[in-house]
Amino acid sequence: MTSLPPPPSPEAEEAPAPFRVLGPASLTALVTIDERGMVVAWSTEAELVFGWAAAEAVGRRLSETIIPARYREAHEAGLQRMRETGAGPALGRVIEASALRRDGSEFDAEVSISPPTTRDDDGPRLITAFVRDLTERRRLEQVHAMHFEVTRILAESATLDAAAPAVLAAIGSNLGYGIGMLWVVDRVAGALELQAMWSRAGIDAGEFEAHSRSLVFSPGVGLPGRVWSSGSPVAVPNLSADDNFPRAPTAARVGLHGGVGFPIVSAYGVIGVVEFFTDEVQPPEPVVLSTMTDVGSQLGQFVEHRLAESLLRLRVRELEVLRGAAHALNASLDLDVVLDAVARTAAEALGAPRATVLRVEGGMLEIAGEYDESGTTARGRRWPVSDLPGADKVLRGEFWSGALDATGPALRRVTDATGMNAVAMAPVRSGTETFGILALLSRTPRALGEGELRLLHGIASLAGLAVGNAESFRLEREHGRRMAALDTAKSQFLNLASHELRSPLTVLRGYLSMLADGSLGPLPDGVARVVPMLTAKVAQMSGLIEEMLETARLEDHRLQLSMGIVDLREVVRACVRACEHSAQPGQRIVVQHPDTPAQVNADVSRLETAIGNLVDNALKYSPMGGDVECVVSLQDGMATLQVRDRGLGIAPVDMDRLFTRFGRIVTAENSHILGTGLGLYLARELVRMQDGDISAASTPGEGSTFTLWLPSVPAP
Ligand code: ADP
Repeated sequence: MTSLPPPPSPEAEEAPAPFRVLGPASLTALVTIDERGMVVAWSTEAELVFGWAAAEAVGRRLSETIIPARYREAHEAGLQRMRETGAGPALGRVIEASALRRDGSEFDAEVSISPPTTRDDDGPRLITAFVRDLTERRRLEQVHAMHFEVTRILAESATLDAAAPAVLAAIGSNLGYGIGMLWVVDRVAGALELQAMWSRAGIDAGEFEAHSRSLVFSPGVGLPGRVWSSGSPVAVPNLSADDNFPRAPTAARVGLHGGVGFPIVSAYGVIGVVEFFTDEVQPPEPVVLSTMTDVGSQLGQFVEHRLAESLLRLRVRELEVLRGAAHALNASLDLDVVLDAVARTAAEALGAPRATVLRVEGGMLEIAGEYDESGTTARGRRWPVSDLPGADKVLRGEFWSGALDATGPALRRVTDATGMNAVAMAPVRSGTETFGILALLSRTPRALGEGELRLLHGIASLAGLAVGNAESFRLEREHGRRMAALDTAKSQFLNLASHELRSPLTVLRGYLSMLADGSLGPLPDGVARVVPMLTAKVAQMSGLIEEMLETARLEDHRLQLSMGIVDLREVVRACVRACEHSAQPGQRIVVQHPDTPAQVNADVSRLETAIGNLVDNALKYSPMGGDVECVVSLQDGMATLQVRDRGLGIAPVDMDRLFTRFGRIVTAENSHILGTGLGLYLARELVRMQDGDISAASTPGEGSTFTLWLPSVPAP
């Protein structure tokens, strides 16, 4: 066995000291002959290149020393022509030719031949040739051609498997090997296995291949095993003399005597070994060995890149499937539809004939969503969690897969009906809650790959989200329904209460006015004193009932406006007059308005209701007094009324509830103040019907300003 670096070749070893490192192949030999073809000068380099000593060569015919026998005749003929004509095709040129060493071996040479010269005018003509061994250059060319071809093959191949035969052929045929083999490391078995083979045409490699295929090499064993454990090229120049080459006899029968192997090295270490065999007993040249090292790491990188590419493709596909799944699951907010979509997505993405979503509730599992390629359904079937093997684990958040043999009777009915007897399960969680299980079913147990597992978990997570969304939507819808029902109840109450209260109140008001005007006779003093107070309270009640009736009309779309041009200043003055009796002692209502009319197109009585409400509130919610200001102005095509008080004010958090139906805001300060929560709502709705609006601004403890505006109508 020879490990790198190989020993220098025997020729180099024997060479004289100055040439030891160079070797004869890199020398230029100088040979001079006369026109008869006799050697007259033979350089030291020529001694090394051809193996003839100068003393032996000088005086001999050149054709008997370095010209291969088959070219000798042509050589002599050329000399003859030169003697006769003084010219020849090779003279003064550089040619490539075969040259012969003393040991009988031939090599390609570059020969540069001088034109014939004479030392003195009448002396014999001499021809000098510079001869250079081209073997090394040829080898380099072969190595480059091989490297180029390997690179091209790899660029065009998807996997090492696919590239291997062509790569072996490219290396083998370019470098002159007889057989090449690719061994790959089986990490589980801890051994090298033959993956691909190439043999040169004309070699019957059958027996050697069969023998190789029957072997697996552990680290250190045989040529492949040694390459594997050393991680670098190994040369076995003489197979039969090697005690760690079990295939030696078979190799010898095919005529193979030398071998070399190199590792395929990736970032993960040695992943394979390539070996080549030759019919020569000779170690490979250093250039070949270093190229093999390069090719080995090139193959390793190729495998790495292709692996990374295929992983990437796999992840992209997974992401696409998950995106599709997310799309499918978002298509509906109906839980039943979503759960069926989950099952269908999982079955289709993972190629399972059936998938189900099992909802867990009170220790029972129920088929809440399902997809079955044959259309079989078991929806709604229930069985205890303990009946499904592995279910408890999955509900604790783990993955489980296996056979369904040991199931209880309830689940057995389902497995019998669907023909499914194996399951792979992932948990479905919505937030922190365990919703249930996503189960992938098949007829026989099936191992899921890493990517498939990721997909199953991914779909289960999406399912959790979709379940959460569907649940929120259901709650929202239920809430909406309850609110709508409450709304209807409020409307019904408004209608009923206002109508039922109106008749008795009319009677009450009639009798009160008869009491007041004496139609029912003189009243005792004590009674006469309370009549005005009763009249005021009845008027207040009428106002409230009127408000309720008006709101009921608004909601039933029965409210009809009767529009006309009015001066906002007058409407405000009328409202203020009507409200003055509600002012507390010392409390004033101050009105400011422009001198010119502030004309608006409005339903006077509805506008009075709205303004009356604002002024009334301003007085009502100022229990400690303070003036109420009513400021009318004209601006930007709008007639505006601002009602300002210095009362309790409204907290920012409550502002949103102003103007809503029954939107009473009860606080510690205003809880003694009576109201229905309809006033502002009604006021704003009425003003909006007249193309205007009302807004509010307030600072708690300082007071509020309500602003009402309507499009102004230019004076005629
Ligand atoms: P209510 O019949 O309760 O007065 P409104 O719709 O008129 O109903 O008013 C709704 C709520 O707005 C009231 O409960 C009150 O808390 C608040 N509010 C209205 N006007 C004022 C104001 N000028 N100052 C302080 N709070 C007010």
